[in-house]
Amino acid sequence: MFGFLAPGCAYAQGGGGPCTNCAFPLASTRGVMVTADDLVAQFETEVAAHDFVLEDIREVDLYNSGSFLNNDEIPPEARRRVLDRLGGLDPVECVLIESRPEYVTEASLGAARRALGPKRLEVGIGLESAADRIRDKLIHKGFTRADFENSLAVLARHGAVPLAYVLLKPLEVTEREAIEDSVETCRYVHAKAREAGIESKVALQPVFVQPETALAHAHASGRYRPPWLWSVVEVVRRAAPLGPIHVGTKDDFPPPVAVRANCGRCDSAFEAAIDAFNASADIRTLENLCCECKVRWASELVQRDSQRSLNPSHVGR
Ligand SMILES: [Zn+2]
Repeated sequence: MFGFLAPGCAYAQGGGGPCTNCAFPLASTRGVMVTADDLVAQFETEVAAHDFVLEDIREVDLYNSGSFLNNDEIPPEARRRVLDRLGGLDPVECVLIESRPEYVTEASLGAARRALGPKRLEVGIGLESAADRIRDKLIHKGFTRADFENSLAVLARHGAVPLAYVLLKPLEVTEREAIEDSVETCRYVHAKAREAGIESKVALQPVFVQPETALAHAHASGRYRPPWLWSVVEVVRRAAPLGPIHVGTKDDFPPPVAVRANCGRCDSAFEAAIDAFNASADIRTLENLCCECKVRWASELVQRDSQRSLNPSHVGR
């Protein structure tokens, strides 16, 4: 895993963003351009700090708090040099990059493929939700399902694999709606990838609250609670039969002020079960989880729904 200090997400700093959950600007130069030489030097410093063979590093994840395929964030020359280096580095078999869908183009993917060679290339795309209302109106993501589907077609043509990020419980979404939306989004991702003739993976990201975000303001005023671990487990149980799914981290930079949680007493058992699921992809690892807080979770699902149905301003999808 390698994080570039780079300009960061152009969308977050432009007119449309940032997304309501996003603290990416805090992990970037906030739009100040970084030269290709500088970016390559950052990367080479990290490469030199590892013995890839001894440590048996088979996957390298490249993060730049934005879109690796956007020329205004990562110059094409830097992309070419970094991917070319990884293409020749044993025992690396797989490289993950991240991008908004609009930068997944014939030109950018073709160049990436030529530089990396035949190694596996995964492209993380923050779809977040298949529902337009949630993705666009509530998260402010600023792209359409058609944009995402077009990117799948480009990835298919270049033999790359999408890793779709699915956000569990964005701002203004109730616990129950969040569960349903994440399961439906997994269903959508796998179906569209099948149509495009490529494999697919989902990274389920239970929301955590980072400072200086719309989410942080809502959390501070008591209007938002991150998802229950019960909900995370519920989504994985229902979505795992639909296709590969992995549960994302509960930590990032800057450090979150609130993360997915149950009652506090059972949280470590749940996190251990989630780790076991991530390692094995076996949903039996999520069986036998019990705690008396399940009643509170279940009543929240019902209660919030009934409140919602009584309040017309919260209805509609
Ligand atoms: Zn509990």
